[in-house]
Amino acid sequence: MSAKSYVNETLDLIKRVSSRQPIFLQCATEVLKSITPLLDLNKQYEEHAVLQRMVMPERTIIFRVVYIDDKGHAQTHFGYRVQFSSVLGPYKGGLRFHPSVNLDILKFLAFEQIFKNSLTGLHIGGGKGGANFDPKGKSDAEIMRFCQAFMSELSKHIGYSTDVPAGDIGVGAREIGYMFGAYKKITSKFDGTLTGKAINWGGSLVRKEATGYGAVYFANEILKDNKDSFEGKTCVVSGSGNVAIYTIEKLHQYGAKVVAISDSDGYVYDKDGIDLELLKDIKEVRRLRVSDYANEKKGAVYISKVNYEKGTNGVWSVPCDCAFPSATQNELSLEDAKNLHKNGCKLIAEGANMPCTLEAQKFILDSGIFYAPAKAANAGGVATSGLEMQQNANMTSWTFEEVDQKLHAIMKDIYTRTSETAKEFGFENNLVAGANIAGFKKVADAMIEQGYI
Ligand code: GLU
Repeated sequence: MSAKSYVNETLDLIKRVSSRQPIFLQCATEVLKSITPLLDLNKQYEEHAVLQRMVMPERTIIFRVVYIDDKGHAQTHFGYRVQFSSVLGPYKGGLRFHPSVNLDILKFLAFEQIFKNSLTGLHIGGGKGGANFDPKGKSDAEIMRFCQAFMSELSKHIGYSTDVPAGDIGVGAREIGYMFGAYKKITSKFDGTLTGKAINWGGSLVRKEATGYGAVYFANEILKDNKDSFEGKTCVVSGSGNVAIYTIEKLHQYGAKVVAISDSDGYVYDKDGIDLELLKDIKEVRRLRVSDYANEKKGAVYISKVNYEKGTNGVWSVPCDCAFPSATQNELSLEDAKNLHKNGCKLIAEGANMPCTLEAQKFILDSGIFYAPAKAANAGGVATSGLEMQQNANMTSWTFEEVDQKLHAIMKDIYTRTSETAKEFGFENNLVAGANIAGFKKVADAMIEQGYI
C-alpha cells in the first residue's frame, strides 16, 4: 500500500483503539504525516509493521495513590507511568503532577519523548508518567506525603537500567528529592534511577537550566544560519516555570530583551525587560504567581486571563521578534500564530511539549516564520538528564562548564541533523519534518534489528 494509506490506516487504528485520546492522536498525526516521504522510500517499515507497533506503548501502568492531607483526610489520585519504547535504551521521561493529567496526555508526552530522546544521540528510550494531583496551594508536608505515596507504587516499575523518571510540570528538585528518598528507603538502593536530583547527592550541574538554555542554543543556530543573532531582539516567553526562567536567562546573556511572561491565570508585560532575579525569587523561593511579580516590579503590567480577548491567549498579543512558548501543550492557537505574524514575529522556538496546535503549526510553516519544534528545541532537558545518568554510572561529577559545553554540542548536533534531514527529503526549512524523520528513522531501524518484541 502507499505510504499515505499506511499512515492513514495507522491513524484509524489509533482512533478505533484510543477513541478518547485526542491529544495523543494530534501528536501521532503530526509525526506520522511528516514521515510519509521516508516510508515511501523504505517499504520495510510497513513489512515489519513498524507503525502499528510504534503507536502502542510497550507497557502502561495505572495505579492508585492515597495520601493524607493536612486536615487528616485521605486524598486519592491516579498515578501513571507510560513505558512507551525501550528500543534505544531505558524508558526515559519526566513525571507531571497537574490536575489535567490523564492517560491521553501522558501517552502524547511519552510518544513525543521517544523521538526527542532519539534525536539527542544518547541511548535512552521514551516514557512519561505523573498524577492528576495539583501541587498548587499544597503545604510542603502534603507534597512530601504525596511523593512518598506515589513512589510506593512507582518504585516497583523503575530502575537505572529499566526506567529513569525526571521532572516535568509540577515536579522540580523538591519533588524529585522526596521521591528519591522514598525510592531509596523502599529499595535500599542509591543509584541513578531518577534524574534532576540535587547537586550534593548525584544531580548534574546545568540540569536545572538545560531545557531553557537548550531551546535558546537551538534557536541561535537557526539565526546564525540566517546571518542573524539575538542581540537587540525583543522576545516573549510564555510560562514562568523552570523552562521559561532559564530561557530568559540565556536570552539575556545573548543580548535579547524579554518583555512578557505568563502563568495559567494571566500574563505580565514588562516593557523594560523581565527582572530575572525578582522572577526567580518569586517563583523558585516564594513559589508565588506572575501577578505578584507585577505587584513588586515598577512599570510591569498584569493582564488577568478574564480580560483576554475571546479566542486568543493574551501573551501572544504582545509584539515581539521571537516567541518561546514554554508553558504547556496547545497553548498557541491559529489565532495566536496569526497575531504573532501580524506583529512581525520572525522566530518561534518551543520550550514546552507541543505548545502549538496542528493548525497553528501549519500556518507558521507556511508563513515563513522560523520554527523550532519541541522535539528538537526542548531536547536539552532530557539530554542533560542523559548526562546525569552518565555521571552517576561513573560515580563522578563534571563542572558546570563541561556539562554546558556538552549540552551546547548536543543542541548544535540536533540542529544540523534536523536541518540536513529536512533538506534531504525536500523540506528545506521545515524542521518539523526534519526532526520527525531523523528521530523516527533511528527508532524504526532499531525495532527491525531487534525483531518482533
Ligand atoms: N520532562 C522533560 C521533557 O519533556 C525532561 C525529561 C527528562 O529529563 O527525563 O523532555
